[in-house]
Amino acid sequence: MKIPGALIFEPGTNSGWTIEEVELDDPKRGEIQVEIAASGLCHSDDHVDTGDIPLNWAPIIGGHEGAGVVTKVDDSVTTVQVGDHVALSFLPSCGKCYMCIQGKANMCVLGAGTLGGVQPDGTHRVHARGMGVGQFSYLGTFAPYVTVPVEAAVKIPKEIPLDKAALIGCGVPTGWGSAIYAGNVQMGQVVVVFGVGGVGMNAVQGARQRHARAIVAVDPVQRKRDWAKDFGATHTASNEDEARKIVDELTNGQGADVVIITMGVADPKLLQPAGDMTVRGGTLVLTSAAKVGLQNLDFDLFTFAMSGKRLQGTLYGSTNAPFDMPLILGLYQRGEMKLDELITQTYKLTDLNQAVQDMRDGLNIRGVITEF
Ligand SMILES: [Zn+2]
Ligand SMILES: [Zn+2]
Repeated sequence: MKIPGALIFEPGTNSGWTIEEVELDDPKRGEIQVEIAASGLCHSDDHVDTGDIPLNWAPIIGGHEGAGVVTKVDDSVTTVQVGDHVALSFLPSCGKCYMCIQGKANMCVLGAGTLGGVQPDGTHRVHARGMGVGQFSYLGTFAPYVTVPVEAAVKIPKEIPLDKAALIGCGVPTGWGSAIYAGNVQMGQVVVVFGVGGVGMNAVQGARQRHARAIVAVDPVQRKRDWAKDFGATHTASNEDEARKIVDELTNGQGADVVIITMGVADPKLLQPAGDMTVRGGTLVLTSAAKVGLQNLDFDLFTFAMSGKRLQGTLYGSTNAPFDMPLILGLYQRGEMKLDELITQTYKLTDLNQAVQDMRDGLNIRGVITEF
């Protein structure tokens, strides 16, 4: 089938997205085709263009936060049917591997190949200019249809609006799980969240759901600080020095119980001040992707060890997508999880480059493509 798609031909060159016609194959063994209703914009897509995520293959069709309606299934697929509504997870989980059977779907062996440039069977489902096109996270939701492994799809109730459902494929669980699982925020704790965009805003929500007594949202963008209050932030700060002052006042200088870093790109210079404002025995959660290859850090290891702090990395907020995606949608249906308010702008696929610029400029919590 011929469809439009948004592609990067030269990753890492800031050349922007090219929207052109591509050929999409039908599902093969274990695969389904989904008509995409909405696709969120995530910094990880932009990282391909900027080179923060270096890819040694191209072209690539972007987009990894989508939801839609199943239009075709291969005969081998038994878990979803044509007409089902699904949210697509940027990390598929096989349900059988060592990590999956422990409920750690975010660490699945299938998900580990998500940036490999080919589908799990080693071939392509998208083609352009006579070349195979890699699907970002096996998905490539910057297009009206995708052919994907069924393991990437989580069936959702039909009453959930699909634009909201799209958000649970990456940004929402990543931020929410950073507070709930990676940070394991407890009732009455003091929590700091660095970067309150489409990921961090959900860390704020998670901390609120766990009844943190104070949630300090740190962001240089005024409007994001204002939005953060609607999501549960009790205090806001524009930088780490302001945040430190607030935390010292709240905790008599002891430090925050949980500090979560959810900025668009991890700033290595933030690690020390963020660690310093974490209470002894507390947890510093690193959710943001740092530039790949960054290895040397200025970090006071002695003090960190002697103060019993935990530095917790997390992928996908340590969530278990087949379990947590329905759980999050249940919270949404009960009015305990804000998803509507996360979408601050919608775009056409043809306006993708403007949408990316708006994301870089901090204009949105989440921009979502709803017209293809
Ligand atoms: Zn993402
Ligand atoms: Zn697995």
